[in-house]
Amino acid sequence: MTTHTAECPSSPEIGESAELVCRNPRTGKSLGSVPISSSEETRSAVAGAREAAITWAALGARERRRHLDRWRRTIADHRGELLGLLSDEAGKVPADALLEVNLALHHLEWAAANAGRALAPQRAHSGLMMLGHSSTLVRRPYGVVGVIGPWNYPVYTPMGSIAYALATGNAVVFKPSEYTALIGQWLVDAFADAVPDHPVLAAVHGDGATGAALVEAGVDKVAFTGSAATGRRVMAGCAQSLTPVLMELGGKDAAIVDTDADLDDAADAIVWGALMNAGQTCAGVERVYAVDEVYDSLLERITQRAGQLRAGVDYGAIAMPTQIDVISRHVDAALADGGRAVVGGRESVRAPFVDPVVLVDVPEASTAVREETFGPVLIVNRADDVHDAISRANAAPYALGAAVFGRRRGRWIAEQLRSGMVSVNGVVDFGAVPALPFGGNGASGFGRIHGMPGLQEFTTCTSITERRLRLPIRPQRFSRSPVDLGALILLLNRHRWVRR
Ligand code: NDP
Repeated sequence: MTTHTAECPSSPEIGESAELVCRNPRTGKSLGSVPISSSEETRSAVAGAREAAITWAALGARERRRHLDRWRRTIADHRGELLGLLSDEAGKVPADALLEVNLALHHLEWAAANAGRALAPQRAHSGLMMLGHSSTLVRRPYGVVGVIGPWNYPVYTPMGSIAYALATGNAVVFKPSEYTALIGQWLVDAFADAVPDHPVLAAVHGDGATGAALVEAGVDKVAFTGSAATGRRVMAGCAQSLTPVLMELGGKDAAIVDTDADLDDAADAIVWGALMNAGQTCAGVERVYAVDEVYDSLLERITQRAGQLRAGVDYGAIAMPTQIDVISRHVDAALADGGRAVVGGRESVRAPFVDPVVLVDVPEASTAVREETFGPVLIVNRADDVHDAISRANAAPYALGAAVFGRRRGRWIAEQLRSGMVSVNGVVDFGAVPALPFGGNGASGFGRIHGMPGLQEFTTCTSITERRLRLPIRPQRFSRSPVDLGALILLLNRHRWVRR
């Protein structure tokens, strides 16, 4: 077999022995390589995981928790290596890397501790028709979950699926983004060190073709996090085998600022929400709708804060080279459509860095308002009132997260938004609460990671009724008597008599 080396971010050839060389996005320097998995190797990883899943599932949630806690400690013990990789391979500044690893471990701990509850049988009320029966919903793991992850939060994001799937007794085959393959492999190696007896976490590497091969390799569920465009392709692949799929897609999150908001606090949070991780955050703030009364004061504060920040110092590089073009295109579109830049502009793009850009008066129909920019670009538009702000926030096809700033009506505004998650007087705070489900609506996907729904997302269920009492009335038999039919007529008439 030939061996060739493909360099990130080109498209490596799948199907022969090849390597993916991963590079520092800031310097282009090689950091190491991982072998590209052929379709055959991907299928074999799934088969191996399926075998390991049997004993893993049989361990029970309490025993699995012990193993997952050991993995968590191993990651924490070797955090220096992981933080270094997040900086080198994902281009993050130390503070962003530290936050990401903290969040990921917080979720791992919660998932391991709560999986037992998620798997516990649930009793259901049997109702009048089934008197004398007990009804129960039992849950079990799917088997093997294929996790396909993005590069922007290469630890936190896949952990939202991996930890929750493992805790509920599944094995996982993980396809990290080709831009963060070393980080993905590091997590898998740390698991193998911590839990050597249970090979239930494996990695396969490559570009989209490896992801597609994983979808076709016979996994029992796919957990996909990435762009809406790729999500459609993954869904089409899953449709062939009717494989269930969880879709965590992009966002165009809005922040609404009401008349009674603490404007200093709102500006601090919004600027951080828009620029952290160089704006490469699915639930980062990309649009602001501030009501007329506070618009000018808020804009002054945002401008002053954003104007002091610099890419490469306060936040990192753009990790995927092609994203630079998207960012430039959106800034151009906003300006061409009549918007104005009040911080930075086209000149802020100096690959692989992009300095902060704040745009105002951008028409709602502009590409810059409707599509995910995924860069340090913030649009601050004026809203007539809070109703106008809500309706504009809700107009985007995406509905992942949102933020609301205001005292009196904060919670009410949050409930009017169609996004899957909202932080009131904060940004992206929901992502740090493991007990709260995370996910979007509309073009941002469906299904949930995190929280009880996030654990149950990785379980399949069986509804069981069990006859406990042998009652004399049994209309569900061919041997039914006139008395049985009389009972059915009584039950039917009940709907006419009982108003409730
Ligand atoms: P992509 O959609 O480009 O890729 C996501 C993953 O899918 C990568 O591992 C990619 O591999 C893989 N892939 C590509 N093509 C296919 C295919 N045909 N079949 C199967 N897998 C495939 O997303 P990005 O990596 O660029 O991530 C950024 C996107 O992720 C943004 O839109 C962001 O909003 C979203 N995101 C959503 C989150 C959420 O929770 N809702 C959280 C974080 C990010 P490769 O990279 O090797 O090409």
